Amino acid sequence: MKNNLTSQQMGKIKNLFADRVRFNKVERLVYSHDMGMMPEQVRALIQCTPDAIVQPISTQEVINIIKIAQEEKIPIVPRGAGSAGFGGSVPAKAGIVIDFVRMNKIIDIDKEDMTATVESGVVWQNLEGELSKRGLTLRTYPSSSDSTVGGWVAQGGNGYGGYEYGDFRQNIVSVDVVLPTGELKSFSGSEIDKVYSLCGITGLM
Ligand SMILES: Cc1cc2nc3c(=O)[nH]c(=O)nc-3n(C[C@H](O)[C@H](O)[C@H](O)COP(=O)(O)OP(=O)(O)OC[C@H]3O[C@@H](n4cnc5c(N)ncnc54)[C@H](O)[C@@H]3O)c2cc1C
Repeated sequence: MKNNLTSQQMGKIKNLFADRVRFNKVERLVYSHDMGMMPEQVRALIQCTPDAIVQPISTQEVINIIKIAQEEKIPIVPRGAGSAGFGGSVPAKAGIVIDFVRMNKIIDIDKEDMTATVESGVVWQNLEGELSKRGLTLRTYPSSSDSTVGGWVAQGGNGYGGYEYGDFRQNIVSVDVVLPTGELKSFSGSEIDKVYSLCGITGLM
């Protein structure tokens, strides 16, 4: 299985991510799938095996890898828990998968405002666990409770609590997004539509 990256490009990525980057065949194969199984006829037409997988731990690292990808013209694909099953987190032209698994901090739970501020890789069941310690609960979350908050922003949808509180879009206060230029921007109000349910094509949460 060939790797499209040059050794110089690999070196640049390795410098940034140290032991949080993988170029080996086995892990690249794991990331060539999500929860669903893409038909072989489709897989044959695309390059679904990434060349590298990185796991950022900060927004700055997300910005840094986007800048490298832009400079080197390497495709990138964001990935949460890979539970969507439609192949959105699977590459079509190889490149770099940005796996948000380590950006899993619950930054703030505001009992007055009834809001939670989290990193995109936070998993719903962990957030619900932290809320329940404070006598709170999520208004809505997907039945795939081990999927990520960022993944649901990007994929969009309805979940538990939806009849009462609407779909996830109606429960988002704001989203911080790293744009394809590497610029960090916060979207709120109607601007959330520029990122919600767009599968990460307009930026990374
Ligand atoms: C058993 C089961 C139950 C489910 N129940 C529900 C349900 O009740 N409601 C519902 O709506 N869906 C449901 N789903 C579908 C799926 O779990 C949701 O769409 C979930 O929100 C996807 O999150 P994820 O972290 O797995 O994202 P992934 O599958 O990893 O990614 C989904 C999309 O988001 C993009 N993405 C991921 N993270 C980011 C990021 N940080 N920034 C930008 N883009 C990003 C990816 O590139 C991809 O296009 C279910 C799936 C399963 C298997």
